[in-house]
Amino acid sequence: MSLRYLGFAKTVMIALLLATTPLFAINIILNQYAERRAISEMEAMGNVSLHRAEEAISTTVALLQRLDRDDIQTCNAEDRVIFEKQIVEHGMIDAIGVADGVGRRMCVTPDRELVEQVILPPRRVDGPLVGIGMLDRSYLGVRAAVISWDLKNDTRLFAEVTPAVIAIDPGPEYLRSYRRAELRLGDNLLWYTVGGYNSEGSDPGDMLSVEVASELYPLSASVTAPVSAASQLVQDLKVVAAAACAGIALLFVAIGVWLSWRPESEANDEFVAAIRNGEFIPFYQPVMDIETQRLRGCEVLMRWRRPNGVIVSPGQFMAYAENNGHIFDMTRNMMRVSSEEVGELYGENPDFKLSINLFAGHFLDREVISDIKSIFEKSEIAFQQIVVEVTERHPLQDMELARKIIAELQALGVRVALDDVGTGHGGMAYLQKLGVDIIKIDKMFIDTISSDDNSTTIVDSMVELADNLGMGIIAEGVELEEQIERLLELGVTAAQGYYFAQPMPADEFIEFAERMEEEGRERARLAAEAAAAEEAANESARKNAAA
Ligand code: C2E
Ligand code: CA
Ligand code: CA
Repeated sequence: MSLRYLGFAKTVMIALLLATTPLFAINIILNQYAERRAISEMEAMGNVSLHRAEEAISTTVALLQRLDRDDIQTCNAEDRVIFEKQIVEHGMIDAIGVADGVGRRMCVTPDRELVEQVILPPRRVDGPLVGIGMLDRSYLGVRAAVISWDLKNDTRLFAEVTPAVIAIDPGPEYLRSYRRAELRLGDNLLWYTVGGYNSEGSDPGDMLSVEVASELYPLSASVTAPVSAASQLVQDLKVVAAAACAGIALLFVAIGVWLSWRPESEANDEFVAAIRNGEFIPFYQPVMDIETQRLRGCEVLMRWRRPNGVIVSPGQFMAYAENNGHIFDMTRNMMRVSSEEVGELYGENPDFKLSINLFAGHFLDREVISDIKSIFEKSEIAFQQIVVEVTERHPLQDMELARKIIAELQALGVRVALDDVGTGHGGMAYLQKLGVDIIKIDKMFIDTISSDDNSTTIVDSMVELADNLGMGIIAEGVELEEQIERLLELGVTAAQGYYFAQPMPADEFIEFAERMEEEGRERARLAAEAAAAEEAANESARKNAAA
Protein backbone atom coordinates (compact mmCIF):
# COMPACT_ATOMS: atom_id res chain seq x y z
CA MET A 1 0.00 0.00 0.00
CA SER A 2 2.70 2.44 1.04
CA LEU A 3 4.64 1.52 -2.07
CA ARG A 4 1.66 2.32 -4.19
CA TYR A 5 1.33 5.70 -2.48
CA LEU A 6 5.00 6.34 -3.13
CA GLY A 7 4.42 5.57 -6.79
CA PHE A 8 1.46 7.90 -6.83
CA ALA A 9 3.41 10.76 -5.20
CA LYS A 10 6.20 10.25 -7.73
CA THR A 11 3.70 10.33 -10.59
CA VAL A 12 2.23 13.60 -9.33
CA MET A 13 5.69 15.13 -8.93
CA ILE A 14 6.71 14.16 -12.46
CA ALA A 15 3.42 15.38 -13.87
CA LEU A 16 3.79 18.74 -12.10
CA LEU A 17 7.33 19.00 -13.37
CA LEU A 18 6.24 18.18 -16.92
CA ALA A 19 3.50 20.77 -16.72
CA THR A 20 5.36 23.57 -14.96
CA THR A 21 8.46 23.37 -17.14
CA PRO A 22 6.51 24.59 -20.19
CA LEU A 23 4.88 27.18 -17.93
CA PHE A 24 8.31 28.60 -17.16
CA ALA A 25 9.20 28.57 -20.83
CA ILE A 26 5.89 30.17 -21.79
CA ASN A 27 6.40 32.90 -19.18
CA ILE A 28 9.84 33.64 -20.53
CA ILE A 29 8.57 33.73 -24.10
CA LEU A 30 5.64 35.96 -23.13
CA ASN A 31 7.93 38.34 -21.22
CA GLN A 32 10.27 38.55 -24.18
CA TYR A 33 7.34 39.18 -26.48
CA ALA A 34 6.03 41.89 -24.13
CA GLU A 35 9.42 43.60 -24.01
CA ARG A 36 9.87 43.51 -27.77
CA ARG A 37 6.39 44.85 -28.28
CA ALA A 38 6.85 47.62 -25.67
CA ILE A 39 10.16 48.64 -27.17
CA SER A 40 8.72 48.96 -30.65
CA GLU A 41 5.84 50.98 -29.26
CA MET A 42 8.21 53.23 -27.36
CA GLU A 43 10.22 53.71 -30.55
CA ALA A 44 7.03 54.70 -32.33
CA MET A 45 6.27 57.21 -29.57
CA GLY A 46 9.76 58.69 -29.88
CA ASN A 47 9.46 58.90 -33.66
CA VAL A 48 6.07 60.62 -33.50
CA SER A 49 7.44 63.36 -31.26
CA LEU A 50 10.60 63.71 -33.35
CA HIS A 51 8.50 63.97 -36.47
CA ARG A 52 6.31 66.68 -34.98
CA ALA A 53 9.33 68.64 -33.81
CA GLU A 54 10.99 68.32 -37.22
CA GLU A 55 7.85 69.50 -38.92
CA ALA A 56 7.51 72.46 -36.56
CA ILE A 57 11.11 73.44 -37.18
CA SER A 58 10.92 73.01 -40.97
CA THR A 59 7.71 74.97 -41.26
CA THR A 60 9.06 77.78 -39.08
CA VAL A 61 12.38 77.92 -40.89
CA ALA A 62 10.55 78.04 -44.25
CA LEU A 63 8.50 80.98 -42.98
CA LEU A 64 11.55 82.85 -41.69
CA GLN A 65 13.40 82.22 -44.99
CA ARG A 66 10.48 83.63 -46.91
CA LEU A 67 10.40 86.77 -44.70
CA ASP A 68 14.16 87.16 -45.28
CA ARG A 69 13.73 86.77 -49.02
CA ASP A 70 10.89 89.28 -49.00
CA ASP A 71 13.13 91.69 -47.06
CA ILE A 72 10.94 91.71 -44.06
CA GLN A 73 13.69 91.58 -41.44
CA THR A 74 13.54 94.61 -39.20
CA CYS A 75 11.76 95.93 -36.17
CA ASN A 76 10.02 98.69 -38.11
CA ALA A 77 6.29 99.08 -37.96
CA GLU A 78 5.72 97.95 -41.54
CA ASP A 79 7.54 94.65 -41.04
CA ARG A 80 5.85 94.08 -37.72
CA VAL A 81 2.45 94.30 -39.39
CA ILE A 82 3.52 91.50 -41.66
CA PHE A 83 4.82 89.54 -38.65
CA GLU A 84 1.37 90.01 -37.13
CA LYS A 85 -0.28 88.64 -40.26
CA GLN A 86 1.99 85.60 -40.33
CA ILE A 87 1.20 84.79 -36.69
CA VAL A 88 -2.49 84.83 -37.49
CA GLU A 89 -1.92 82.61 -40.53
CA HIS A 90 0.34 80.10 -38.78
CA GLY A 91 -1.42 78.74 -35.73
CA MET A 92 1.72 77.07 -34.53
CA ILE A 93 3.61 80.33 -34.21
CA ASP A 94 3.08 82.49 -31.14
CA ALA A 95 5.46 85.33 -31.87
CA ILE A 96 7.90 86.63 -34.48
CA GLY A 97 10.75 89.06 -33.86
CA VAL A 98 14.33 90.09 -34.48
CA ALA A 99 17.25 89.03 -32.24
CA ASP A 100 20.87 90.11 -32.06
CA GLY A 101 23.94 87.90 -32.53
CA VAL A 102 24.19 87.13 -28.81
CA GLY A 103 20.65 85.79 -28.83
CA ARG A 104 18.78 88.67 -27.15
CA ARG A 105 15.43 89.85 -28.51
CA MET A 106 15.53 93.27 -30.17
CA CYS A 107 11.76 93.36 -30.86
CA VAL A 108 8.89 90.91 -30.84
CA THR A 109 5.35 90.77 -32.17
CA PRO A 110 2.98 90.67 -30.38
CA ASP A 111 4.54 93.41 -28.30
CA ARG A 112 5.99 92.29 -25.07
CA GLU A 113 8.27 93.81 -22.47
CA LEU A 114 11.74 92.68 -23.42
CA VAL A 115 13.97 91.60 -20.61
CA GLU A 116 17.65 91.27 -21.38
CA GLN A 117 17.23 87.54 -21.70
CA VAL A 118 19.28 85.41 -24.05
CA ILE A 119 16.84 83.14 -25.80
CA LEU A 120 19.01 81.78 -28.59
CA PRO A 121 22.42 80.22 -28.83
CA PRO A 122 25.09 82.78 -29.87
CA ARG A 123 25.42 83.20 -33.55
CA ARG A 124 28.43 81.49 -35.11
CA VAL A 125 30.03 82.67 -38.28
CA ASP A 126 30.64 79.21 -39.64
CA GLY A 127 27.61 77.66 -37.92
CA PRO A 128 24.30 76.74 -39.48
CA LEU A 129 21.91 79.49 -40.42
CA VAL A 130 19.21 77.98 -38.28
CA GLY A 131 19.37 78.30 -34.50
CA ILE A 132 17.09 76.76 -31.93
CA GLY A 133 16.55 77.84 -28.32
CA MET A 134 14.06 77.29 -25.55
CA LEU A 135 11.87 79.57 -23.49
CA ASP A 136 10.73 78.95 -19.97
CA ARG A 137 7.12 79.10 -21.07
CA SER A 138 5.69 75.64 -21.16
CA TYR A 139 2.49 73.77 -21.81
CA LEU A 140 1.96 70.27 -20.41
CA GLY A 141 5.69 69.88 -19.88
CA VAL A 142 6.59 71.11 -23.34
CA ARG A 143 8.60 74.29 -23.56
CA ALA A 144 8.12 76.91 -26.23
CA ALA A 145 10.91 76.68 -28.79
CA VAL A 146 12.53 79.63 -30.46
CA ILE A 147 13.73 79.10 -34.01
CA SER A 148 15.97 81.61 -35.66
CA TRP A 149 17.21 82.39 -39.16
CA ASP A 150 20.46 84.30 -39.55
CA LEU A 151 20.36 87.54 -41.49
CA LYS A 152 23.30 89.19 -43.20
CA ASN A 153 23.67 92.04 -40.74
CA ASP A 154 24.49 89.94 -37.67
CA THR A 155 20.86 89.93 -36.62
CA ARG A 156 18.37 87.12 -36.78
CA LEU A 157 14.74 86.62 -37.48
CA PHE A 158 13.08 84.40 -34.92
CA ALA A 159 9.75 82.75 -34.30
CA GLU A 160 8.38 81.21 -31.12
CA VAL A 161 6.71 77.87 -31.66
CA THR A 162 3.75 77.13 -29.44
CA PRO A 163 4.35 74.16 -27.19
CA ALA A 164 0.91 72.80 -28.12
CA VAL A 165 2.15 71.66 -31.55
CA ILE A 166 4.32 69.02 -30.03
CA ALA A 167 1.20 67.51 -28.47
CA ILE A 168 2.34 64.54 -26.55
CA ASP A 169 1.62 61.13 -27.91
CA PRO A 170 0.21 59.25 -24.93
CA GLY A 171 1.26 55.86 -26.32
CA PRO A 172 -0.53 52.58 -25.58
CA GLU A 173 -2.60 52.41 -22.44
CA TYR A 174 -0.55 49.78 -20.62
CA LEU A 175 2.53 52.03 -20.81
CA ARG A 176 0.80 55.36 -20.22
CA SER A 177 1.15 55.68 -16.47
CA TYR A 178 4.71 54.34 -16.37
CA ARG A 179 6.58 55.65 -19.37
CA ARG A 180 8.80 58.70 -19.39
CA ALA A 181 9.58 60.47 -22.65
CA GLU A 182 12.06 63.23 -23.36
CA LEU A 183 12.84 65.28 -26.40
CA ARG A 184 16.21 66.93 -26.40
CA LEU A 185 17.79 69.47 -28.57
CA GLY A 186 21.53 69.15 -29.08
CA ASP A 187 23.26 67.73 -26.09
CA ASN A 188 21.13 68.80 -23.21
CA LEU A 189 18.54 71.35 -24.10
CA LEU A 190 15.28 69.83 -22.95
CA TRP A 191 12.32 70.55 -25.23
CA TYR A 192 9.91 68.41 -23.40
CA THR A 193 9.65 65.73 -20.78
CA VAL A 194 6.55 63.76 -19.90
CA GLY A 195 5.69 60.91 -17.61
CA GLY A 196 5.62 60.88 -13.87
CA TYR A 197 7.71 57.78 -13.64
CA ASN A 198 11.17 58.51 -12.46
CA SER A 199 13.59 55.98 -13.78
CA GLU A 200 16.50 57.25 -11.75
CA GLY A 201 17.42 54.98 -8.92
CA SER A 202 15.74 51.92 -10.35
CA ASP A 203 17.83 49.04 -11.58
CA PRO A 204 18.62 49.54 -15.27
CA GLY A 205 17.94 45.81 -15.67
CA ASP A 206 14.33 46.47 -14.72
CA MET A 207 13.98 49.28 -17.26
CA LEU A 208 13.34 49.34 -20.97
CA SER A 209 14.65 52.38 -22.83
CA VAL A 210 14.81 53.48 -26.44
CA GLU A 211 16.49 56.47 -28.05
CA VAL A 212 15.70 57.77 -31.54
CA ALA A 213 17.52 60.63 -33.26
CA SER A 214 16.41 63.00 -35.99
CA GLU A 215 18.22 62.90 -39.30
CA LEU A 216 17.41 66.55 -40.03
CA TYR A 217 18.13 68.36 -36.79
CA PRO A 218 20.13 67.72 -33.63
CA LEU A 219 17.06 66.29 -31.99
CA SER A 220 16.74 63.10 -30.01
CA ALA A 221 13.83 61.49 -28.25
CA SER A 222 14.15 58.95 -25.48
CA VAL A 223 11.43 56.84 -23.93
CA THR A 224 11.85 54.67 -20.83
CA ALA A 225 9.43 52.37 -19.07
CA PRO A 226 9.76 49.69 -16.39
CA VAL A 227 9.82 46.09 -17.59
CA SER A 228 6.96 45.38 -15.20
CA ALA A 229 4.72 47.79 -17.10
CA ALA A 230 5.47 45.97 -20.34
CA SER A 231 4.67 42.62 -18.82
CA GLN A 232 1.17 43.87 -18.00
CA LEU A 233 0.54 43.50 -21.68
CA VAL A 234 0.80 39.73 -21.37
CA GLN A 235 -0.73 39.39 -17.93
CA ASP A 236 -3.93 37.90 -19.29
CA LEU A 237 -2.01 35.54 -21.56
CA LYS A 238 0.02 34.40 -18.56
CA VAL A 239 -3.15 33.59 -16.66
CA VAL A 240 -4.40 31.64 -19.68
CA ALA A 241 -1.05 29.84 -19.94
CA ALA A 242 -1.07 28.99 -16.23
CA ALA A 243 -4.61 27.64 -16.53
CA ALA A 244 -3.62 25.63 -19.60
CA CYS A 245 -0.59 24.21 -17.80
CA ALA A 246 -2.71 23.35 -14.77
CA GLY A 247 -5.01 21.51 -17.16
CA ILE A 248 -2.06 19.72 -18.73
CA ALA A 249 -0.71 18.86 -15.26
CA LEU A 250 -4.04 17.32 -14.39
CA LEU A 251 -4.02 15.37 -17.61
CA PHE A 252 -0.49 14.14 -16.90
CA VAL A 253 -1.49 13.17 -13.37
CA ALA A 254 -4.46 11.28 -14.77
CA ILE A 255 -2.29 9.52 -17.35
CA GLY A 256 0.38 8.88 -14.71
CA VAL A 257 -2.14 7.43 -12.32
CA TRP A 258 -3.57 5.29 -15.08
CA LEU A 259 -0.09 4.08 -16.05
CA SER A 260 0.97 3.42 -12.49
CA TRP A 261 -2.21 1.49 -11.74
CA ARG A 262 -2.08 -0.53 -14.89
CA PRO A 263 0.90 -2.67 -13.84
CA GLU A 264 -1.06 -3.41 -10.68
CA SER A 265 -3.88 -4.85 -12.73
CA GLU A 266 -1.37 -6.62 -14.97
CA ALA A 267 0.24 -8.11 -11.86
CA ASN A 268 -3.20 -9.18 -10.79
CA ASP A 269 -3.89 -10.75 -14.16
CA GLU A 270 -0.60 -12.60 -13.85
CA PHE A 271 -1.58 -13.80 -10.38
CA VAL A 272 -4.98 -14.99 -11.56
CA ALA A 273 -3.31 -16.80 -14.47
CA ALA A 274 -0.94 -18.45 -11.98
CA ILE A 275 -3.91 -19.70 -9.97
CA ARG A 276 -5.57 -21.05 -13.11
CA ASN A 277 -2.32 -22.75 -14.18
CA GLY A 278 -2.14 -24.53 -10.86
CA GLU A 279 1.10 -22.83 -9.84
CA PHE A 280 0.01 -22.71 -6.19
CA ILE A 281 0.70 -26.15 -4.82
CA PRO A 282 0.68 -27.88 -1.44
CA PHE A 283 3.84 -28.77 0.43
CA TYR A 284 3.60 -31.07 3.42
CA GLN A 285 5.38 -30.74 6.73
CA PRO A 286 5.28 -33.80 8.97
CA VAL A 287 3.83 -33.60 12.46
CA MET A 288 5.47 -36.17 14.76
CA ASP A 289 4.51 -37.98 17.90
CA ILE A 290 7.61 -37.38 19.99
CA GLU A 291 6.76 -40.09 22.47
CA THR A 292 6.47 -42.90 19.94
CA GLN A 293 8.50 -41.21 17.15
CA ARG A 294 5.72 -42.07 14.75
CA LEU A 295 4.18 -39.83 12.13
CA ARG A 296 0.88 -38.24 13.20
CA GLY A 297 0.19 -36.48 9.92
CA CYS A 298 1.19 -33.20 8.35
CA GLU A 299 0.45 -29.54 7.91
CA VAL A 300 -0.29 -28.46 4.33
CA LEU A 301 1.69 -25.30 3.49
CA MET A 302 1.18 -23.46 0.25
CA ARG A 303 3.98 -22.78 -2.23
CA TRP A 304 4.03 -20.87 -5.52
CA ARG A 305 5.94 -22.92 -8.06
CA ARG A 306 6.77 -20.46 -10.83
CA PRO A 307 6.95 -21.77 -14.41
CA ASN A 308 10.76 -21.43 -14.18
CA GLY A 309 10.76 -23.85 -11.26
CA VAL A 310 11.44 -21.29 -8.52
CA ILE A 311 9.56 -22.05 -5.31
CA VAL A 312 8.12 -18.97 -3.61
CA SER A 313 7.18 -18.98 0.10
CA PRO A 314 3.78 -17.81 1.34
CA GLY A 315 5.40 -14.78 3.01
CA GLN A 316 5.77 -13.29 -0.49
CA PHE A 317 2.20 -13.67 -1.72
CA MET A 318 -0.16 -14.65 1.09
CA ALA A 319 -1.01 -11.10 2.21
CA TYR A 320 -1.74 -10.14 -1.42
CA ALA A 321 -3.85 -13.23 -1.96
CA GLU A 322 -5.80 -12.56 1.23
CA ASN A 323 -6.32 -8.85 0.49
CA ASN A 324 -7.58 -9.56 -3.02
CA GLY A 325 -9.74 -12.50 -2.09
CA HIS A 326 -7.76 -14.87 -4.32
CA ILE A 327 -7.03 -17.00 -1.26
CA PHE A 328 -10.48 -18.62 -1.47
CA ASP A 329 -9.78 -20.17 -4.87
CA MET A 330 -6.22 -20.97 -3.90
CA THR A 331 -7.25 -22.79 -0.71
CA ARG A 332 -9.97 -24.70 -2.57
CA ASN A 333 -7.50 -25.78 -5.27
CA MET A 334 -4.88 -26.69 -2.69
CA MET A 335 -7.30 -28.87 -0.71
CA ARG A 336 -8.37 -30.62 -3.91
CA VAL A 337 -4.78 -31.29 -4.98
CA SER A 338 -3.74 -32.55 -1.55
CA SER A 339 -6.80 -34.81 -1.35
CA GLU A 340 -5.57 -36.39 -4.57
CA GLU A 341 -1.86 -36.44 -3.73
CA VAL A 342 -2.01 -37.95 -0.25
CA GLY A 343 -5.51 -39.51 -0.35
CA GLU A 344 -4.17 -43.03 -0.68
CA LEU A 345 -1.62 -42.58 2.13
CA TYR A 346 -4.35 -41.24 4.40
CA GLY A 347 -6.72 -44.00 3.41
CA GLU A 348 -4.14 -46.53 4.54
CA ASN A 349 -3.40 -44.64 7.75
CA PRO A 350 -6.75 -43.64 9.22
CA ASP A 351 -5.19 -41.92 12.23
CA PHE A 352 -3.06 -39.51 10.15
CA LYS A 353 -4.20 -35.92 10.42
CA LEU A 354 -4.09 -33.33 7.61
CA SER A 355 -3.88 -29.70 8.74
CA ILE A 356 -5.19 -27.01 6.40
CA ASN A 357 -4.51 -23.31 7.05
CA LEU A 358 -7.50 -21.00 6.80
CA PHE A 359 -7.44 -17.24 7.20
CA ALA A 360 -9.78 -14.88 9.06
CA GLY A 361 -11.86 -14.26 5.92
CA HIS A 362 -12.80 -17.96 5.75
CA PHE A 363 -14.71 -17.51 8.98
CA LEU A 364 -17.00 -14.84 7.52
CA ASP A 365 -18.70 -17.19 5.07
CA ARG A 366 -20.11 -20.71 5.33
CA GLU A 367 -18.70 -21.52 1.89
CA VAL A 368 -15.62 -23.03 3.47
CA ILE A 369 -17.83 -25.73 4.99
CA SER A 370 -19.32 -26.72 1.63
CA ASP A 371 -15.85 -26.60 0.05
CA ILE A 372 -14.43 -29.01 2.63
CA LYS A 373 -17.51 -31.22 2.33
CA SER A 374 -17.47 -31.43 -1.45
CA ILE A 375 -13.73 -31.96 -1.73
CA PHE A 376 -13.21 -34.57 1.00
CA GLU A 377 -16.52 -36.40 0.54
CA LYS A 378 -15.16 -37.93 -2.64
CA SER A 379 -11.67 -38.49 -1.28
CA GLU A 380 -10.08 -41.26 0.75
CA ILE A 381 -9.37 -38.71 3.46
CA ALA A 382 -12.10 -38.79 6.10
CA PHE A 383 -13.43 -35.60 7.70
CA GLN A 384 -12.11 -37.00 10.99
CA GLN A 385 -8.58 -36.76 9.54
CA ILE A 386 -8.90 -33.10 8.75
CA VAL A 387 -7.75 -30.26 10.97
CA VAL A 388 -8.32 -26.65 10.02
CA GLU A 389 -5.96 -24.10 11.51
CA VAL A 390 -7.06 -20.59 12.33
CA THR A 391 -4.37 -18.15 13.32
CA GLU A 392 -4.48 -16.04 16.42
CA ARG A 393 -2.28 -13.42 14.71
CA HIS A 394 -5.16 -11.63 12.99
CA PRO A 395 -8.43 -10.96 14.80
CA LEU A 396 -11.64 -12.58 13.62
CA GLN A 397 -14.19 -9.92 12.72
CA ASP A 398 -17.32 -11.84 13.54
CA MET A 399 -16.68 -14.11 16.53
CA GLU A 400 -20.27 -15.34 16.62
CA LEU A 401 -20.25 -16.48 12.98
CA ALA A 402 -16.75 -17.94 13.39
CA ARG A 403 -17.96 -19.97 16.34
CA LYS A 404 -20.90 -21.28 14.31
CA ILE A 405 -18.70 -22.22 11.36
CA ILE A 406 -16.32 -24.01 13.70
CA ALA A 407 -19.19 -25.85 15.33
CA GLU A 408 -20.51 -26.96 11.94
CA LEU A 409 -17.08 -28.17 10.88
CA GLN A 410 -16.75 -30.04 14.15
CA ALA A 411 -20.15 -31.61 13.54
CA LEU A 412 -18.70 -33.05 10.33
CA GLY A 413 -15.83 -34.53 12.33
CA VAL A 414 -13.28 -31.91 11.30
CA ARG A 415 -11.03 -30.71 14.07
CA VAL A 416 -10.06 -27.09 14.61
CA ALA A 417 -6.66 -25.90 15.75
CA LEU A 418 -5.73 -22.46 16.99
CA ASP A 419 -2.46 -21.54 15.30
CA ASP A 420 0.37 -19.37 16.63
CA VAL A 421 -1.02 -19.42 20.14
CA GLY A 422 0.53 -16.80 22.36
CA THR A 423 1.39 -14.35 19.58
CA GLY A 424 -1.96 -12.78 18.85
CA HIS A 425 -4.95 -10.93 20.05
CA GLY A 426 -7.32 -13.63 21.17
CA GLY A 427 -5.58 -15.43 23.98
CA MET A 428 -7.72 -17.34 26.41
CA ALA A 429 -10.89 -15.69 25.12
CA TYR A 430 -10.38 -17.30 21.70
CA LEU A 431 -9.82 -20.73 23.16
CA GLN A 432 -13.00 -20.61 25.17
CA LYS A 433 -15.28 -18.81 22.75
CA LEU A 434 -14.27 -20.63 19.60
CA GLY A 435 -14.24 -24.08 21.13
CA VAL A 436 -11.08 -25.25 19.36
CA ASP A 437 -9.78 -28.80 19.65
CA ILE A 438 -6.04 -28.25 19.35
CA ILE A 439 -3.62 -25.46 20.15
CA LYS A 440 -0.39 -24.95 18.28
CA ILE A 441 2.30 -23.32 20.40
CA ASP A 442 4.25 -20.82 18.34
CA LYS A 443 7.91 -21.31 17.48
CA MET A 444 8.67 -18.15 19.49
CA PHE A 445 8.07 -20.06 22.76
CA ILE A 446 9.68 -23.26 21.56
CA ASP A 447 12.88 -21.37 20.58
CA THR A 448 13.55 -20.41 24.20
CA ILE A 449 12.04 -23.41 25.89
CA SER A 450 15.35 -24.93 27.01
CA SER A 451 17.01 -21.71 28.15
CA ASP A 452 14.30 -19.34 29.29
CA ASP A 453 12.44 -20.17 32.50
CA ASN A 454 9.69 -17.71 31.66
CA SER A 455 8.97 -19.35 28.36
CA THR A 456 8.88 -22.69 30.03
CA THR A 457 6.34 -21.34 32.45
CA ILE A 458 4.19 -20.02 29.62
CA VAL A 459 4.29 -23.34 27.81
CA ASP A 460 3.60 -25.02 31.14
CA SER A 461 0.44 -23.03 31.64
CA MET A 462 -0.64 -23.59 28.05
CA VAL A 463 -0.29 -27.31 28.55
CA GLU A 464 -2.24 -27.15 31.77
CA LEU A 465 -5.01 -25.12 30.16
CA ALA A 466 -5.21 -27.43 27.15
CA ASP A 467 -5.43 -30.42 29.46
CA ASN A 468 -8.19 -28.79 31.48
CA LEU A 469 -10.18 -27.92 28.35
CA GLY A 470 -9.52 -31.36 26.86
CA MET A 471 -7.54 -29.93 23.91
CA GLY A 472 -4.58 -31.39 22.08
CA ILE A 473 -1.24 -29.57 21.78
CA ILE A 474 1.24 -29.35 18.94
CA ALA A 475 4.61 -27.64 19.36
CA GLU A 476 5.75 -25.71 16.28
CA GLY A 477 9.23 -24.93 15.01
CA VAL A 478 11.14 -27.64 16.85
CA GLU A 479 14.74 -27.58 15.69
CA LEU A 480 16.79 -29.09 18.54
CA GLU A 481 16.93 -32.36 20.39
CA GLU A 482 16.86 -30.69 23.83
CA GLN A 483 13.61 -28.95 22.89
CA ILE A 484 12.05 -32.37 22.41
CA GLU A 485 13.29 -33.53 25.82
CA ARG A 486 11.90 -30.43 27.46
CA LEU A 487 8.55 -30.80 25.66
CA LEU A 488 8.27 -34.38 26.84
CA GLU A 489 8.95 -33.26 30.39
CA LEU A 490 6.18 -30.69 30.01
CA GLY A 491 3.80 -33.34 28.70
CA VAL A 492 3.67 -32.25 25.04
CA THR A 493 3.56 -35.20 22.70
CA ALA A 494 3.07 -33.72 19.21
CA ALA A 495 5.59 -31.54 17.41
CA GLN A 496 6.60 -30.29 13.98
CA GLY A 497 9.78 -28.56 12.91
CA TYR A 498 12.94 -28.69 10.88
CA TYR A 499 14.35 -31.16 13.41
CA PHE A 500 12.13 -33.75 11.78
CA ALA A 501 11.59 -32.32 8.33
CA GLN A 502 10.96 -29.18 6.32
CA PRO A 503 7.78 -28.79 4.27
CA MET A 504 8.17 -30.94 1.14
CA PRO A 505 6.35 -31.96 -2.04
CA ALA A 506 3.84 -34.82 -1.92
CA ASP A 507 6.10 -37.58 -3.31
CA GLU A 508 8.80 -36.81 -0.75
CA PHE A 509 6.25 -36.69 2.03
CA ILE A 510 4.84 -40.08 1.02
CA GLU A 511 8.39 -41.48 1.03
CA PHE A 512 8.97 -39.88 4.41
CA ALA A 513 5.78 -41.48 5.75
CA GLU A 514 6.82 -44.89 4.42
CA ARG A 515 10.27 -44.50 5.95
CA MET A 516 8.72 -43.58 9.30
CA GLU A 517 6.43 -46.60 9.05
CA GLU A 518 9.41 -48.80 8.22
CA GLU A 519 11.43 -47.37 11.12
CA GLY A 520 8.44 -47.88 13.41
CA ARG A 521 8.14 -51.50 12.32
CA GLU A 522 11.90 -51.93 12.77
CA ARG A 523 11.70 -50.40 16.26
CA ALA A 524 8.77 -52.67 17.08
CA ARG A 525 10.68 -55.69 15.74
CA LEU A 526 13.75 -54.76 17.79
CA ALA A 527 11.62 -54.14 20.83
CA ALA A 528 9.86 -57.46 20.29
CA GLU A 529 13.23 -59.19 19.86
CA ALA A 530 14.53 -57.51 23.00
CA ALA A 531 11.40 -58.48 24.83
CA ALA A 532 11.68 -62.03 23.53
CA ALA A 533 15.34 -62.15 24.50
CA GLU A 534 14.47 -60.89 27.92
CA GLU A 535 11.64 -63.37 28.18
CA ALA A 536 14.03 -66.13 27.12
CA ALA A 537 16.58 -64.96 29.65
CA ASN A 538 13.94 -64.86 32.36
CA GLU A 539 12.76 -68.33 31.33
CA SER A 540 16.21 -69.80 31.51
CA ALA A 541 16.81 -68.07 34.81
CA ARG A 542 13.58 -69.57 36.14
CA LYS A 543 14.64 -73.02 34.82
CA ASN A 544 18.04 -72.68 36.42
CA ALA A 545 16.46 -71.68 39.66
CA ALA A 546 14.07 -74.61 39.49
CA ALA A 547 16.86 -77.03 38.63
P1 C2E B 1 2.27 -21.26 9.92
O1 C2E B 1 0.90 -21.75 9.66
O2 C2E B 1 2.60 -20.90 11.30
O3 C2E B 1 3.24 -22.34 9.34
C1 C2E B 1 4.43 -22.69 9.94
C2 C2E B 1 5.56 -22.02 9.26
O4 C2E B 1 6.75 -22.25 9.98
C3 C2E B 1 5.82 -22.55 7.85
O5 C2E B 1 6.31 -21.49 7.08
C4 C2E B 1 6.90 -23.56 8.08
O6 C2E B 1 7.69 -23.82 6.95
C5 C2E B 1 7.70 -22.89 9.15
N1 C2E B 1 8.43 -23.84 9.99
C6 C2E B 1 8.08 -25.10 10.36
N2 C2E B 1 9.02 -25.66 11.14
C7 C2E B 1 10.00 -24.75 11.28
C8 C2E B 1 11.26 -24.75 11.99
O7 C2E B 1 11.67 -25.68 12.64
N3 C2E B 1 12.01 -23.61 11.91
C9 C2E B 1 11.58 -22.54 11.20
N4 C2E B 1 12.36 -21.47 11.14
N5 C2E B 1 10.41 -22.50 10.51
C10 C2E B 1 9.63 -23.61 10.56
P2 C2E B 1 5.77 -21.22 5.67
O8 C2E B 1 5.47 -22.48 4.95
O9 C2E B 1 6.70 -20.24 5.04
O10 C2E B 1 4.38 -20.52 5.95
C11 C2E B 1 4.32 -19.30 6.56
C12 C2E B 1 2.92 -18.95 6.92
O11 C2E B 1 2.13 -18.76 5.77
C13 C2E B 1 2.20 -20.02 7.68
O12 C2E B 1 2.57 -19.97 9.01
C14 C2E B 1 0.78 -19.64 7.46
O13 C2E B 1 0.40 -18.63 8.32
C15 C2E B 1 0.83 -19.10 6.06
N6 C2E B 1 0.36 -20.15 5.16
C16 C2E B 1 1.05 -21.13 4.57
N7 C2E B 1 0.27 -21.85 3.77
C17 C2E B 1 -0.98 -21.33 3.89
C18 C2E B 1 -2.25 -21.63 3.32
O14 C2E B 1 -2.43 -22.58 2.56
N8 C2E B 1 -3.30 -20.84 3.67
C19 C2E B 1 -3.16 -19.81 4.51
N9 C2E B 1 -4.23 -19.06 4.83
N10 C2E B 1 -1.99 -19.47 5.07
C20 C2E B 1 -0.91 -20.25 4.76
CA1 CA C 1 -0.37 -23.26 10.43
CA1 CA D 1 2.00 -21.51 13.23
